[in-house]
Amino acid sequence: MTTTIGHFIDGRQVSSSSGRSAPVFNPATGAETGRVALASEAEVRAAVEIAKAAQPSWAATTPLRRARILNRFLGILEQRAGELAAVITAEHGKVLSDARGEIQRGIEVVEFAIAAPELLKGEFSENVGTGVDSHSLRQPLGVVAGITPFNFPVMVPMWMFPVALACGNAFILKPSERCPGASLLIADWLTEAGLPKGVFQVVHGDKVAVDALLHDRDVAAVSFVGSTPVARYIYETATKNGKRCQALGGAKNHMVIMPDADLDQAADALMGAAYGSAGERCMAISIALPIGKATADALVQKLTERAEKLVIGAGTDKASEMGPLVSKPHLEKVRGYVDSGVAEGASLVLDGRSFVSPGGENGYFIGATLFDNVTPDMKIYREEIFGPVLGIVRVDDFDAAVRLINEHEFGNGAAIFTRDGDSAREFTTRIQAGMVGVNVPIPVPMAFHSFGGWKASLFGDHHMHGSEGVRFYTRLKTVTSRWPAGIRAGADFIMPTME
Ligand code: NAD
Repeated sequence: MTTTIGHFIDGRQVSSSSGRSAPVFNPATGAETGRVALASEAEVRAAVEIAKAAQPSWAATTPLRRARILNRFLGILEQRAGELAAVITAEHGKVLSDARGEIQRGIEVVEFAIAAPELLKGEFSENVGTGVDSHSLRQPLGVVAGITPFNFPVMVPMWMFPVALACGNAFILKPSERCPGASLLIADWLTEAGLPKGVFQVVHGDKVAVDALLHDRDVAAVSFVGSTPVARYIYETATKNGKRCQALGGAKNHMVIMPDADLDQAADALMGAAYGSAGERCMAISIALPIGKATADALVQKLTERAEKLVIGAGTDKASEMGPLVSKPHLEKVRGYVDSGVAEGASLVLDGRSFVSPGGENGYFIGATLFDNVTPDMKIYREEIFGPVLGIVRVDDFDAAVRLINEHEFGNGAAIFTRDGDSAREFTTRIQAGMVGVNVPIPVPMAFHSFGGWKASLFGDHHMHGSEGVRFYTRLKTVTSRWPAGIRAGADFIMPTME
């Protein structure tokens, strides 16, 4: 019998009344393992009403008490991370150790959010005028929503809701319909930790549910992570409807390898950054830019030796270093990109298209793929592939590499491998990307800094978590006060000034 994953509304799991659902697959076997409910507009509206009713008393709960609930949630997460990782691997396909890694990065945001009393501390100025004081405070927005992608079913929601809740908002999560399971465990554990009903809810669904959130008058802000065309649509629609919005999109991250770099270190770094999680990471490196022919020739050789030995298999197999892609359509799309690279004249050094995993013949596996002599006009250079396909663009010098990165549509992350401090410093100054690595291939900021790209990788003004997250999920209020007398003394018709 097929189980249908329902929503989490008003403190409990509920089945859907929409009559619509979508299949959920195990990418390692290709088997349909269940179905997920697709919410109707009415179901979303009902969830927003419940959130709206629950939010004022949550906002009135002291930040310290809110933090204690998050602290209990943290304890549960740490104890039961294995269960959560198993759900991620079953629906997404990534290897278990990688699933544990994304949970750890999510846990770090919860740890950050537990500092709520400190994070929400305001500013105070005494005597801005004689007998007049001013203070600023940050207050929650109300009901906020998060719409998340398939590739980090735990980490990406956790970039959002721990901070949103710590700030006193009610949060509605609309997870990816391809990896829906983890969100219900999270909702259960938040409830077990003492979160009041209605403060965190999960509504599963597709565009219908997303549009309902974007048009709901009581949703004050929308956080989105996903592909660039959808991010642009979300940003435009949410802001047109008067909502605050941060919408993180796709990526095409480049790594520059200078001639003085430790090439073994660079090749090892590229293996993880290009092929880890089958390349389905927004911070994956998909383009390597070796400087000069000698660097490029040596790098291609070192990458080929390593990629040929990559162990590919089910995410549940401890020996696997790379799992399958998330879905059959996505597998076909990635294979199509490899076809297009060949047709456009790139040199296919390693071809993963015909890879078959023993025992996983119906799974969505593709082998590590490496292209040399990629040029900027090719589709495999311009577009995000989101698969284990690494392209080498040979460049003559540092300036040409910087120019290429800065001219690309996306600006999520960029990295440089070098032993030269001057090149590294110049790179970090000039590069147009939101997150930069120096001898670090995937420069994902820690929870107490903020995550976000530039250009078509982010629409909006705020990055996620860290101080940017606190700013996104709060509104600033500034109070000017005078005690005890004088205000009623008479009307003033000129712009007030302080003396
Ligand atoms: P996606 O854009 O297809 O889906 C993301 C979310 O939007 C899902 O919840 C989905 O249900 C919803 N959605 C999809 N189509 C929609 C539509 N037409 N209207 C309204 N809602 C819609 O993305 P995905 O395939 O799940 O995730 C992969 C993408 O996410 C990649 O492009 C990757 O780079 C990006 N990503 C970016 C970051 C980042 O930090 N910039 C992080 C992770 C993933």
